[in-house]
Amino acid sequence: MTDIFQLEGYSVFTGDLQAHFPGWYRQRLYSSLLVVADTHTRRHCLPHFLASTGLPADVPVAEIPAGESFKHIGTCQHLWQQMLDARLDRKALVVNLGGGVIGDMGGFCAATWKRGVDFVQVPTTLLSMTDAAIGGKLGIDFQGIKNTVGVFRNPAAVFIDPAFLKTLPERELRSGFAEVIKHALIGDPALWSRIRHAKSATPEIDLDLLRASIAVKVRVVQEDPLEHGIRALLNYGHTIGHAVESYFLETDDPLTHGEAIAIGMICESQVANDGMLNEVIEVIQRHYGHRHIPEAAFPALWALMQQDKKNAGGKLRMALPDATPFAMKTLEPGAADIEKCLLFYNELT
Ligand code: NAD
Repeated sequence: MTDIFQLEGYSVFTGDLQAHFPGWYRQRLYSSLLVVADTHTRRHCLPHFLASTGLPADVPVAEIPAGESFKHIGTCQHLWQQMLDARLDRKALVVNLGGGVIGDMGGFCAATWKRGVDFVQVPTTLLSMTDAAIGGKLGIDFQGIKNTVGVFRNPAAVFIDPAFLKTLPERELRSGFAEVIKHALIGDPALWSRIRHAKSATPEIDLDLLRASIAVKVRVVQEDPLEHGIRALLNYGHTIGHAVESYFLETDDPLTHGEAIAIGMICESQVANDGMLNEVIEVIQRHYGHRHIPEAAFPALWALMQQDKKNAGGKLRMALPDATPFAMKTLEPGAADIEKCLLFYNELT
């Protein structure tokens, strides 16, 4: 499989950062550069980034606290301040070195800085390598609602180097694996077969698996960059998953994004009466176990689903894979369907 994927106006380079970044950067003649990182990626990923790119050790770094809870306008103000302090002009480059939070928020700040400066995504989590860094969706959470404020703007390039995964905590790796499972189910039966037949409950990530997963995302984004149609397929598992994630975020024992999406994929496949349901359950239970969802939470979950960006005309809209790769069906489940699938999920244990 190819190591460079071409999208409208930018490339996604996969493999050694050292093989791709320096040549690309040299050709671009940027006036200056600012790296955006969080506390963890500054510590764990900046050394490999600097060693691979040959950039000087004193390159300016804007650091923000790690985690989804900082993906808000207050942190953007801090980032814009750092851009001001670093005197970033319109010919500058912003490098987002981190997971999906850094990519979405660093990208949003770059896209709005002086009406937009170039930025590159250097994803460091499995989730951001296979999903968040590709496709130009940028944004932040508002009033606790995920990704409510944002824009579409493509990066100047994406550099995906699996070496960054060496320091990623296992729970985060597993979280990102939910998107790999999703990509397999929506577009790559061979990848699904590999995942299904893997013996280990720990995801085995290599470049082949990464590229297969990236290829699915790239194809969907190429066909529908602004989500007028097929791109909604990438939301499989997310209508219910996002609500479950938001609900558990308020408890003492939150779920990761991927853990919530995994629950969402089971529930949504149950709503759709999907022929793959048993296989989906088997793979997801193997990797994620089971988390009981209190029945008392069902009304709150339904209310959270009403906020979903895909909804139209006051109806909940859920996009799911259909029988053939890259085919999509859309359902409009009611409250009773949602309750039924949540009860179904709870009974699996
Ligand atoms: P994240 O960015 O919060 O990273 C997870 C944790 O891992 C953080 O604590 C981070 O500091 C740490 N980390 C990152 N890389 C590391 C490394 N190599 N070694 C050690 N620690 C490391 O979360 P995420 O799961 O990458 O991304 C989730 C975000 O992505 C959500 O905000 C979601 O909305 C967004 N997202 C966006 C898109 C899109 O299309 N734009 C798609 C999917 C998800």
